[in-house]
Amino acid sequence: MSTDLSTAPRGGDPIAPHGGELVNLLVEGDAAASLRDEASNLPKVVVNERELSDLEMLANGALSPLRGFQGERDYHAVLETMHLAGGLPWAIPVVLSLTDDEAKRLGGADAVALLPGEGADPIAVLRITEIFKRDKRKEATSVYRTDDDAHPGVKAVYDAGDFCAAGTLEVLALPTHEDFRQYRLTPAETRAEFRRRGWRTVVGFQTRNPIHRAHEYIQKCALEIVDGLLVHPLMGATKSDDVPPDVRMRCYEALFSGYYPKDRAMVSIFPAAMRYAGPREAIWHAIARKNYGCTHFIVGRDHAGVGDYYGTYDAQKIFEEFEPGELGIQTLNFEHSFWCSACEGMASPKTCPHGEETRISLSGTKVREMLRNGERPPMEFSRPEVADILIAAMQER
Ligand SMILES: [Zn+2]
Repeated sequence: MSTDLSTAPRGGDPIAPHGGELVNLLVEGDAAASLRDEASNLPKVVVNERELSDLEMLANGALSPLRGFQGERDYHAVLETMHLAGGLPWAIPVVLSLTDDEAKRLGGADAVALLPGEGADPIAVLRITEIFKRDKRKEATSVYRTDDDAHPGVKAVYDAGDFCAAGTLEVLALPTHEDFRQYRLTPAETRAEFRRRGWRTVVGFQTRNPIHRAHEYIQKCALEIVDGLLVHPLMGATKSDDVPPDVRMRCYEALFSGYYPKDRAMVSIFPAAMRYAGPREAIWHAIARKNYGCTHFIVGRDHAGVGDYYGTYDAQKIFEEFEPGELGIQTLNFEHSFWCSACEGMASPKTCPHGEETRISLSGTKVREMLRNGERPPMEFSRPEVADILIAAMQER
């Protein structure tokens, strides 16, 4: 067992945040009033949708121990070594991009007010420590393992400004969300909820898709060995052909009301934007879930992948590049699973000796085609309640 302080339990929580302390960058009370005054007189920069997700996660501690957007030293350390300059594991840079014009306009300013949209009120002040040139090609090949701009994560990097502003953040307000407010728990709130429920071990499940039987099975396998399950759907920016958030949320609600034990499972929103960085993003996802209080994290096949940029098991193998105990959170690797009519149950290649002919597995393309035609996939593949929600959503579109 590791005796590293960063993984030792504190204050009754099952797992310490990454780096040991849960960051909270929200400024309140009188300090907030004077910060708001100051912000109104500072140069202003509008933060794009993806970086706004990062800002929210910096503010609420999901990206602990970061206290702001990263500087050049950490940026290159993360790209080259998957660690911060100080030595703590970190897989994807968290930066605030600036266009050439914005960089020029900021000049030598030592602070900038950040806006969630054009004409909006400032939500944060960044105390600028440096402005540096972003090495986009190096970032693409390090984080995404490709510099192909057909990759959505690479494209987002290339589309962003060429400079980055680094520094610590003082946050006036979290970005506002009109939808699913009851599901938007901060890391402090999920931790409090885990304590309230008496969960000492919690497995986190990342998803950007509706949940069919295969993923339900994986979650429940994990739940057999821990106290609680946090289904933690990513609800920041995704590709336009991914299933929209409101449809996904209805699917999760249907599953939770029909098939999950209420005292052992909960759903909450992960506000991150999707990078599609495969293995590197699996690390990043795991570290964030550690900050939310999860002790375990499920890594399936092709986690956070897109197209054929990553090998099927790359996202599981990359965790072996860290020393035991270095990340703190325990990953649980899973195979793809399916209903086997000979086993008469859900199974995987790890547990089922039968051949393809007894296994009910459908390609994503086939499932989409069935749903478009108003046809439910077999109940061994998808819960009928989930299928009906997806069929209705397809027909609305
Ligand atoms: Zn079988």
